[in-house]
Amino acid sequence: MFLTIDQGTTSSRALLFDEKGQIIDLFQRDFKQIYPEEGWVEHDPFEILSSTILCCETILNKNKNIEIKSVGITNQRETVLAWDKKTGKPFYNAIVWQDRRTSKYCSDLKKDGLEKEINKKTGLLLDPYFSSSKISWLLKNISGLRDLAKNGHVCFGTIDSWLIWNLTKGDTFATDFTNASRTSLFNIETLRWDDDLLNIFDIPLNSLPEVRNSNDYFGETKLLSKNLKITGVIGDQQSSAFGQSCYQSGDIKSTYGTGCFVLANTGNKIVYSNKRLLTTISYKINEDISYALEGSIFMAGGIVNWLKLNLGILDKVSDSSKIACSVKPDSKVVLVPAFSGLGAPHWSAEARGSLFGMTQDTGVNELVHASLQSVSLQTNDLIGAFQKDFFDNNLNLLASLKIDGGMIQNDWFNQNLADICNYEIQKSFTKESTALGAAMIAGLGVGFYSGLDDFKGFYSDNDKITPRMDSMVREKIIDNWSKALKLSIEMAK
Ligand code: ADP
Repeated sequence: MFLTIDQGTTSSRALLFDEKGQIIDLFQRDFKQIYPEEGWVEHDPFEILSSTILCCETILNKNKNIEIKSVGITNQRETVLAWDKKTGKPFYNAIVWQDRRTSKYCSDLKKDGLEKEINKKTGLLLDPYFSSSKISWLLKNISGLRDLAKNGHVCFGTIDSWLIWNLTKGDTFATDFTNASRTSLFNIETLRWDDDLLNIFDIPLNSLPEVRNSNDYFGETKLLSKNLKITGVIGDQQSSAFGQSCYQSGDIKSTYGTGCFVLANTGNKIVYSNKRLLTTISYKINEDISYALEGSIFMAGGIVNWLKLNLGILDKVSDSSKIACSVKPDSKVVLVPAFSGLGAPHWSAEARGSLFGMTQDTGVNELVHASLQSVSLQTNDLIGAFQKDFFDNNLNLLASLKIDGGMIQNDWFNQNLADICNYEIQKSFTKESTALGAAMIAGLGVGFYSGLDDFKGFYSDNDKITPRMDSMVREKIIDNWSKALKLSIEMAK
């Protein structure tokens, strides 16, 4: 068995997997979101740690007689914090990936013409989302931190590093290639922390962790009631791609949680996007490196929560499937869920949510239908961007999308996704692919699995969903959506 720590944005979890990738046990604990000012989002580092330990101990206690071969860690990416190298005391809360406090700093750097260089080296955009500007903020705003950092007394790390450092009682200060590739300080070509980037963001190299393969040995857990080897570390979206067997160039996956993240493997080729997708390291296992293009949608399952919690339309989120079924496929009601702007490939920070095409007999059922369908329509736009980038780079994108996350429990949505994207959908056998990926890597790290071929038996072709919508209906829906989208973006200007 393998123990996975899945440290996410709103909860920490521990999962126990058997050798065939099946979940044996799971425990989850939500933790506090801290919003000190508008646009600021923080987490308490000790709560991240204590919730993680609580989850692990609960699983260990309930499964005392089970032999655990090793531990895998997957985590929310980009979120960063600083702590004292000697005492382990954090200097400030963790600054979360959603935090926008460095917007002005990033736009000043953009004005200085630095985005191109940063994009070339990191594959990322110059945006507050990534860790680098958040570390700069800490260095500027925490009294005495710069001097301490210069003298080698500070650790800056993403959540994986914070957990590993604590679990090993300070033995290991390390991260893996996938997490490093989201800091905007890591050169994805040379595979090193980059001196020019460190200069731009004014961050001392000696405060950054050592970067290791995802399946390297990261030390032993001395903080848990059992001493276990940590042999798998990987960022959450890369982990879900791994858990869904996206190993070959052209493999593409989409995770439908609160938001949606699409990743397409580009093999060992670094592809720069013409469509404002991000380039990232998908995994590095021993000497085998895979890159990926990535795009995200801000609102996916979040819309279903909004229907339930804000509008009170749904008793349970799962009711949305039956309700959407009752609506005619050619309904003209369109919801553009730009509640906090639009992500890839539209990238409009200002766009806001809008509802179009209502008539006298429009009711809540049509709204539920339009909400679910908007997730399919956004995915279709995103797939279009991936197709273009793959085509421009002479690469083939598979015509089969692998899906996981909470929303895939909705059968109507899965079929609608296949119909709108006109794509074959391969539903993951578990909605917990993210945790599974880290367990698989932990198994590789401890030598239990000898290579990627060992995972073939995990998957079956049973869960394939093929498109069946009339093409005229599909085209009309997409046409209405494009018009509504344009108006939503225009209106915000
Ligand atoms: P996260 O990790 O972002 O919290 P999860 O993968 O746990 O996300 O998925 C939770 C999301 O999935 C919620 O936004 C919820 O509304 C949505 N969801 C769960 N079940 C269903 C369902 N049957 N139909 C539609 N959406 C669902």
